[in-house]
Amino acid sequence: MKSLMRRCSCGRYTLQEACPECGSSVDPLIPPRYSPEDRFGKYRRRAKREMAEE
Ligand SMILES: [Zn+2]
Repeated sequence: MKSLMRRCSCGRYTLQEACPECGSSVDPLIPPRYSPEDRFGKYRRRAKREMAEE
């Protein structure tokens, strides 16, 4: 199983449940808010991958 990359509200990315930068807990069940650019990029990559598999 892949490790989930989490993003703290302070902007730090971590694989841990607590942010090593500011100490805030980073809840893995609640996805961080992505910018519209990130969201569309995600869909774009996924669509491209699905096309490649077919
Ligand atoms: Zn943080």
